[in-house]
Amino acid sequence: MAVKRQLSMVLDLNKCIGCQTCTAACKLMWTNRNGREFMYWNNVETQPGLGYPRDYQNMGGGFDDDGALRLGRQPSQEDYGIPWEYNYEEALMTGTDPWLRPHVKPTWGANWDEDRGEGDYPNSFYFYLPRLCNHCANPGCLAACTRNAIYKRQEDGIVLVDQERCRGYRYCVNACPYKKVYFNEQISKSEKCIFCYPRIEKGLATACAQQCVGRIRWIGYRDDEEGPIHQLVEKYKVALPLHPEWGTQPNVFYVPPLSPSKYASDGRELDEPRIPLEYLESLFGPRVGEVLDTLQAERQAKAEGRESELMDTLIGYKHAEMFKLS
Ligand code: SF4
Ligand code: SF4
Repeated sequence: MAVKRQLSMVLDLNKCIGCQTCTAACKLMWTNRNGREFMYWNNVETQPGLGYPRDYQNMGGGFDDDGALRLGRQPSQEDYGIPWEYNYEEALMTGTDPWLRPHVKPTWGANWDEDRGEGDYPNSFYFYLPRLCNHCANPGCLAACTRNAIYKRQEDGIVLVDQERCRGYRYCVNACPYKKVYFNEQISKSEKCIFCYPRIEKGLATACAQQCVGRIRWIGYRDDEEGPIHQLVEKYKVALPLHPEWGTQPNVFYVPPLSPSKYASDGRELDEPRIPLEYLESLFGPRVGEVLDTLQAERQAKAEGRESELMDTLIGYKHAEMFKLS
């Protein structure tokens, strides 16, 4: 879907420490009230893992190879996790309960499998994958909406739900393969990440990027040849979309994670990465190996005191260089 300009984000997974500051910033700003309590417009999940909502990668949606829309399934409330509260008053203020505890017995929630990962010591591995709406160029949510309630803004490509038009049919929830549009039962309408457009319109970065402790997020326009997005996605080609095979053409891109070597059972270091290449390819497509080679070579250059424009960008010295919003 052609727009005049497309705002995009790149996230360097080598720098994410899983602190969830971005998640908290987003939640406090947009989703901690009014039926949105279970929603995480931004979440940070451990991969390999089931993610949020639980097992979303197997729920379907997006487009098939011929471009036909696939209606996947909707997550259940249990797949999202039922939000719980704690007895702060009794445990911390009045002392009438000696234990701080949730008001329900939780059985699942976002990050339930945090830091679990896969493999056995010393070859166990995991990494953090922050996820938000991809503000796709070919949004499944938009294609599925029979009310034309979902639209893509011409000026920046941000995908929004028109709350006046939405009737809560939820086809968008089925069709988004990333499960990044949510149904708010309290108002019977769908809601999703708005790429903090009120901040963007004031020249400010999204809350998740502004607060990011690891400085892993760059924001800018795809057509700005001087900007970091163009440099990472088009020039050095080190940033890749998540699940490109789902056909929605995401505008959020990831620099895939390098990993240390595996060890043989006798303790020898092997010439094989701890995170299997096939696994990364299953997430980010067939170019991952090429990207990891580029990152390795540029990192080595920087370590030896040679120039590396790519590493200087990825280090992210200043926010002013990471967010280019004009
Ligand atoms: Fe729509 Fe999902 Fe793409 Fe966001 S990630 S634009 S909700 S299809
Ligand atoms: Fe990762 Fe940044 Fe979010 Fe922390 S704030 S979890 S470093 S993306």
